[in-house]
Amino acid sequence: MSLEKVSDILKMADRAKTSAIAFNCSDYNNIYAAITVAEELRKPVIIMLYPEHAQKNNWCNPKSFAETVKSIARNVKVPVGLHLDHCTDPAYILEAIRDGFSSVMYDGSMLPVEENIVRTRAMADQAHQMGAEVEAELGRVGFAATVTDQSDADMYTKPEVAAAFCEQSHCDSVAVAIGSAHGFYKETPKLDLQRLREINAATDVPLVLHGGSGIPDDQLAIAFREGINKFNVGTEYFWLYGQTLKKYYADPEPDFFRTPEAVQAALIDYLRRKMTLCTMTV
Ligand SMILES: [Zn+2]
Repeated sequence: MSLEKVSDILKMADRAKTSAIAFNCSDYNNIYAAITVAEELRKPVIIMLYPEHAQKNNWCNPKSFAETVKSIARNVKVPVGLHLDHCTDPAYILEAIRDGFSSVMYDGSMLPVEENIVRTRAMADQAHQMGAEVEAELGRVGFAATVTDQSDADMYTKPEVAAAFCEQSHCDSVAVAIGSAHGFYKETPKLDLQRLREINAATDVPLVLHGGSGIPDDQLAIAFREGINKFNVGTEYFWLYGQTLKKYYADPEPDFFRTPEAVQAALIDYLRRKMTLCTMTV
């Protein structure tokens, strides 16, 4: 199949009262594993590129990434979405859209709300004209390494601001800060599910949860029923990939030609568990 619009995947998830799972990827191996497992389990999947990874790696530029996802998606029947994760640079976003990303995140969460609205709207209006969609962020999802980031309610999304933000920013989806954080958690996160209910009641756009490496499944099940339609996972998927390669090459005489196969087995095993969090089948 050709790529599916991320907004269509999120609508499907919303109707099924669940969330699509979105994985940060960096190369053929981890993209291929995610799409293969989606096909096996008949789940939609969203493949994301984090711009910083593309800047450190000549192979991994938006164009080559988009073409890789498209070529693998062509051979499966489930919906595959392509998304540019956290980006603060409008020029980079426009370039990525031209390179094939029909869904992008403009992250204005570091700005005061009024400025976040103005800049997100400018980005969204341009993106819409080019046929692309924009995920915004309201409140700020911080970093798990700084424990206070996940427990500091001042950084959380304010339900009373959410409706006006979504309307005025013209965003297509919005990432919310409700107690999750990026990276591995030092303390088990406790999502503010009441806040999520209030944000969901106040807004019409799909809600996105970032910081998916280590939130207990029972909290996720509730969050997915209460309005989260896109769930971002990055750190634990990359970590597993790295650990798998390390273990494989710890063998004094590794078979180099079996590397992709050895990596796939571990990634697939993890993905089967993670993707089951999305309760719909297509
Ligand atoms: Zn994020």
